[in-house]
Amino acid sequence: MKKQYIIPIFVPHLGCPNDCVFCNQKSISGQKKNMTKEEAKNIIENYLKNIKKTEDAQVEIAFYGGSFTAIEQEKQEELLSLAYEYIEKGQVESIRISTRPDAINKETLKRLKKYKVKTIELGVQSANNYILNKSNRGHTFEDVKKSSKMIRWYGFKLGHQMMVGLPESTRIDEINTAKSLIKLKPKMVRIYPVLVVKGTKLEEDYKNGKYEPLTVVQAVEICKDLVRMFADKNIEIIRIGLQNTDEISNPENEESEVVARTISSSI
Ligand code: SF4
Repeated sequence: MKKQYIIPIFVPHLGCPNDCVFCNQKSISGQKKNMTKEEAKNIIENYLKNIKKTEDAQVEIAFYGGSFTAIEQEKQEELLSLAYEYIEKGQVESIRISTRPDAINKETLKRLKKYKVKTIELGVQSANNYILNKSNRGHTFEDVKKSSKMIRWYGFKLGHQMMVGLPESTRIDEINTAKSLIKLKPKMVRIYPVLVVKGTKLEEDYKNGKYEPLTVVQAVEICKDLVRMFADKNIEIIRIGLQNTDEISNPENEESEVVARTISSSI
């Protein structure tokens, strides 16, 4: 089996027209300012220095955070062309991006194809329009269906991200979301239990007693069911929970941006 290396480049909130109730991308990504081409280049060079060049090494540049295809076109091209240079030099095999379901159209997909992007991850979060609305997502599940089909039709690898414990979401809603996603045939999923992060609407609601996070046990129980459902359909689960960083850590830590959390772990 090939050894996979990912070079993560966080493009926080850049271009995102929205303010989801749970989102503070700058905290979640640990990235306080917008990503420039020079910074992205430094990140790539530093990673490449530390990656062991074996025959089976597969290196991917991943633009995470924010909504990549909602960024102004010039900025997208700047970052994509940088990543593409490394593909041309044979140092990197592929590129992945994450974005919003309503920021996908034919023109964007053609642009991503041109730069050899292989994987597109969509932030879905829920298949229930009422819950999407409560979280101020600014898109519907119809957008998810439409964009997922287009992504697959254009030959990209499709990934979905869903959340557990969103405002007014129940276990049944989350099971239904997994069922709906399975029908759209993603190759991989990420499952994120909600964290209450500083500076978000959810923090306000939590402090006012309007939002109650899941307990660790509740979150584990539901994630266990979701993992089984996706695994049964051979859909790879690439992560459960945000990665622990200085900002995303135990709320008691001084540097933590988390106010309340259920679980945060990776698999
Ligand atoms: S769409 Fe994504 S980046 Fe934009 S506010 Fe929502 S979670 Fe944050």
